[in-house]
Amino acid sequence: MHQPNANFRIGHGYDLHRLEPFPPAGNGRPFVLGGLRLDHERGPVGHSDGDALYHAVTDAILGALALPDIGQLFPDTDPRHQGQDSADFVAEAARRASSAGWCISNLDATVILEKPRLSPVKDAMRDNIARLLGVPIDRVNIKGKTHEKVDAVGEGRAVEVHVVVLLIK
Ligand code: MG
Repeated sequence: MHQPNANFRIGHGYDLHRLEPFPPAGNGRPFVLGGLRLDHERGPVGHSDGDALYHAVTDAILGALALPDIGQLFPDTDPRHQGQDSADFVAEAARRASSAGWCISNLDATVILEKPRLSPVKDAMRDNIARLLGVPIDRVNIKGKTHEKVDAVGEGRAVEVHVVVLLIK
């Protein structure tokens, strides 16, 4: 069958982290999302710094490249990744994209989080992602949603993120 040259690749990333109180009441880490420290009484449980937005961005790019996912590339059984800044994962995915000849056309994220409110910090998160990907901020979008107080996310016990990215040759 004829295979036309594919000049576009789409990728999807998803992540969820449980949000717990800080030790000794729980296992929450300081709440970092999109590279920003959020002021909140709970934080993500995770092996790295638990940045669900950076993890979903990483997986979206790796997915578009048909590469192994973040859990395969940076296993949570590897003590080197303990508490690691997840910006390193995004930067590595971006490096792999550009070395394979792909540019980021745009990236769109949906963050589902009951508290704290995302609107005051959204643009700073967009800026962090844009800088890591080496693109202008107008190619990166973040939408904040709540989960209407229902289920684990709505009860403030988890943060959930969806990301789609389009790569262009
Ligand atoms: Mg994760």
